[in-house]
This record gives sequence, structure tokens and C-alpha cells, in this order.
Amino acid sequence: EENPRSSWYKGHELAAKLYHHLLLESPEGKRAREYLRARGFTRKMIETFQIGFAPESWNFLTDFLRKRGFEPDDMAEAGLLARKGDDGRPFDRFRGRIMFPIWDKRGKVIAFGGRVLDEGSPKYLNSPESDVFNKGRLLYHFHGARPSIRRKNEAVLFEGYVDVISAYRAGIEHGTGSLGTALSQEQARMIRRNADKVILCFDGDNAGRQASWKNADILQAAGLEVAVAMLPQGMDPDDYIQHHGPERFAETIVGRPLTMMEFKSAFLKESKNMDMEADQLKYVEEMLKEIAALPKAIEQDHYLRQLQEEFSLSYDVLKQELGEKIKNTV
Ligand code: ATP
Ligand code: MN
Ligand code: MN
Ligand code: MN
Repeated sequence: EENPRSSWYKGHELAAKLYHHLLLESPEGKRAREYLRARGFTRKMIETFQIGFAPESWNFLTDFLRKRGFEPDDMAEAGLLARKGDDGRPFDRFRGRIMFPIWDKRGKVIAFGGRVLDEGSPKYLNSPESDVFNKGRLLYHFHGARPSIRRKNEAVLFEGYVDVISAYRAGIEHGTGSLGTALSQEQARMIRRNADKVILCFDGDNAGRQASWKNADILQAAGLEVAVAMLPQGMDPDDYIQHHGPERFAETIVGRPLTMMEFKSAFLKESKNMDMEADQLKYVEEMLKEIAALPKAIEQDHYLRQLQEEFSLSYDVLKQELGEKIKNTV
């Protein structure tokens, strides 16, 4: 019995090949080639990640698929085509975009992320979700990264497609992407089944910092050891690599990640003026809350002593405050 969705898999595989070919060989793909070259993509990266280009046309893929015997209605349900008007006639969903294929756990293309070449919006257009493509159940390039993740017993988690790809070029082959959303337990378990440790490498903006904090909880709850490769304000992993080079990224950012407590400390300080006494006190309060949530007394003691030394506070007072915090949380 054939998989009822086999036409969807075949359609996606064919579309990925076609888009990839157009990017590499066609005159229509020239501007996209130049765009990618300007962003530092090499031929090897384009091939490894099967990057493509969807031409500026309403019927290019629609006609191509129809000629090969695919039902346009079926392909619209698969998300490759979109529908418009009262008659709901299918047409090309992706037009004039750089195409990043998204693979499932078995390595089959099941969706695309399409990026505009300029500042148009939306910047990324993703395939719609379906019973085959469920964003919460997969990670970008997980299938490709999995052997490396197992070998290193570690995964590096990024926000964006381009971050995964740029990092790969920097030798970080165990990188995978969260596709922009908050992690699900299922995604955390996917990583857990293959490694003990995960390094979060999200964008160096407030959203990225918040996402690291929140996702760390989900990953820890799945039994993973979590560290954070923290980027300077205003830079994402790809920006950093373009600016400082792949070696420095691999050595200093991913190579020397912060512990969760170091990350929390840095993040809490970042939004404060630590020359002001009021902000210092607020920081101490917030750190105490984090220390109170640590599972082991020995860890609590360690961070309490750090706080005491940094701000010349009395250990006894801090300990008492901590006791209050713990009482309040249970
Ligand atoms: P680039 O470097 O190409 O500008 P980016 O990866 O830095 O892209 P971000 O804005 O940081 O882009 O977004 C991170 C990720 O979130 C993207 O790679 C994409 O997976 C997802 N994303 C961003 N914008 C959208 C959108 N409008 N719709 C759906 N997903 C999006
Ligand atoms: Mn971002
Ligand atoms: Mn980004
Ligand atoms: Mn970016």
C-alpha cells in the first residue's frame, strides 16, 4: 500500500531539485547567486544545504508539476502551491525567493523557507503546516547534523537557517535550527535521544536572550545539560561570522559557552546600569531568585559566595534572604 502522502514527498523532492538547479544554472537565478555570494555562501554550502531559487512567476512550479502528472489541488494541499480567488485556482506560493529546503527526520524534503532578496516582507515565507510538516516536531537540518551530534554528544541550537549554514562552514557541523519558535518538548527529546549536552546560540538581541532563557528550562527538563554561546548585542551567529570570521566564532563563542548561571548573570546585568546602587540591589535580588531555584545546596552555596564577594555583602544576610526566597517558592 502506497503512502497516501507519497505525492507530497515526491513533489517536494522535485521542487527542491528544480529550485536548486535554477539557482545554480539559470539566468533567472543570477541575482540570487549574487545575493548569496555577497553574504558569503560558497558553492559547497549551497550544495550541502540544497539551497535554491524560486523564480518571479505565478505558474512556473504549477506548470512544471502539472506536466509531470501531479494534481495542482493535491500540491496546494501539500503547501507547494497556494490558491486564490473564488475558484481557488492553484498558483506558485514561492516567487522570487531564495529557497531553503526543510527536511524531516528521515531526510525527506517536506517544506521550504523562502527568503526575499531584499528588504521585502515577510522576510521569510514558510510552507504552511500540515499533517506532514509540523514545525514543533522537527528541527532544521537535524537529519544532516545527527551523526555529528551523536559523535560529539552535543548539539548546537540556532534560531535561523542562515545561522546553521554559516556555522557549518565554521566547522560546527552539529548545528540545528529551531525555526524561530519556542521549543516543544518533542524537539527537546529529539536532541536528548542523541546527546547529553546542548549549546544554545541564539541571536544577540532581547528576543534571542529571552528565548535562550526559556528554552533552557525546556531542554533541562528533558534531561539535557545546557550552556549558552552568548553573542554580542545586535549580532546573530551569521553576523558574527561575517564580522569576526569562522575561526573566532568556533573558538570563542561556541568553544567557550557560558554556564546557565553565567548567562543569566550577564543578561540581568546587560539591561542595568551597574554603577547605580539601586540597579545593583535589583540585580542581587534577581540572582538570589535564580540561586534559590538551583537543585543542589552546594551549587547554591557556590553562587552565594560569588555574589557576596562581588558586592562585598554579608554572607549571613544573603543566606537569610535566600532562605526567604526558597520558602516563598515552595
Ligand atoms: P537573515 O540573516 O537571512 O536576515 P535571520 O535568520 O537572521 O535571517 P531572524 O529574523 O533572526 O532571521 O529570524 C530567525 C528565523 O526565524 C528565520 O531563519 C526563520 O526560520 C524564522 N523567521 C523569521 N521571520 C519569519 C517570518 N516572517 N515568518 C516565518 N518565519 C520567520
Ligand atoms: Mn532573531
Ligand atoms: Mn537572526
Ligand atoms: Mn541573520
